Amino acid sequence: MEKLLQVEDLHVSFKTHGGEVKAVRGVSFSLEKGETLAIVGESGCGKSVTARSIMRLIPEHVGKITKGKILFNGTDLVTLPEKEMRGLRGSQISMIFQDAMTSLNPTISIGEQIMEGIVRHQKLSRAEAKAQALEMLQLVGIANPERRLKQYLHEFSGGMRQRIMIAIALVCKPSILIADEPTTALDVTIQAQIIDLFKTIQQKTGVSIVIITHDLGVVAKIANKVNVMYAGQVVEAGTVREIFYQPQHPYTKGLLESMPRLDLDRDTPLAPIPGSPPDLFAPPAGCAFAARCQYALEVCRNHQPAYSSLGTTHQVACWLQDPRAQTVYPLQAAK
Ligand code: SF4
Ligand code: MG
Repeated sequence: MEKLLQVEDLHVSFKTHGGEVKAVRGVSFSLEKGETLAIVGESGCGKSVTARSIMRLIPEHVGKITKGKILFNGTDLVTLPEKEMRGLRGSQISMIFQDAMTSLNPTISIGEQIMEGIVRHQKLSRAEAKAQALEMLQLVGIANPERRLKQYLHEFSGGMRQRIMIAIALVCKPSILIADEPTTALDVTIQAQIIDLFKTIQQKTGVSIVIITHDLGVVAKIANKVNVMYAGQVVEAGTVREIFYQPQHPYTKGLLESMPRLDLDRDTPLAPIPGSPPDLFAPPAGCAFAARCQYALEVCRNHQPAYSSLGTTHQVACWLQDPRAQTVYPLQAAK
């Protein structure tokens, strides 16, 4: 498959009063055409920051990409001039957010908001733009599109608003759609409908999707592959089957155990992971999960685990999978 997006050793830091927060610390992954990648992890693990970095939506006075490459069709977005980036944003790579209320304008009709992107990126007449807007509303499953185009945000339900966001994101036929917690604000039945909609759209348009979520149920339904992030790093990456059925990182296992499951008795207690993630002002020298990990070895506290390959698609950053732990550990202990 063709590599559409390749993120290599991405580092992103934020400036705060307390110092520099290293929010993303060496993230690498790739995305192929027509594929869906889910990025999962607790809040604050760097998943949204990674997504916003791809769109170059980190405000310069707040934070910046300090290292790494984001290759989109071979072009490095990290160094691309803002003017060219603006041309790409929305037309080639689009993003939708959790809350349609804060992303859509309540004072402009839905039709105008959908057409805005078309007019900005493609040189089309109003009639042509309107035809495309109608087509998009139909694609996202909104009935009576002709009438709906003239309506305003308050005339739509939460699920419908999210469909409109998706229509706006897709109107210029981008090759990548990034969705940051797209279903979190919705109730469960609507969530399922939106996830089905993503799948239908992908089948029809071939768009590649990066979905950011803390909901493993969503991941199971939609993704081909998964990056599990912890404290600004990808700790395990694999296909959906590998992550769900053969998780190797203690954090991935913990996430799966803390997830509500339909196949278990409703009364079976969930097992949350005790403790909290490390302070990213001063990330630990060793494995970031060591303080919460029941399997931690001495080596884990002082040395970052490297990635071990468990197959062509499955990687994990954990000393338990690295034979060198046996040799490094005694050396450490001898000091
Ligand atoms: Fe646990 Fe060590 Fe693996 Fe980190 S490297 S997850 S501390 S066993
Ligand atoms: Mg987030």
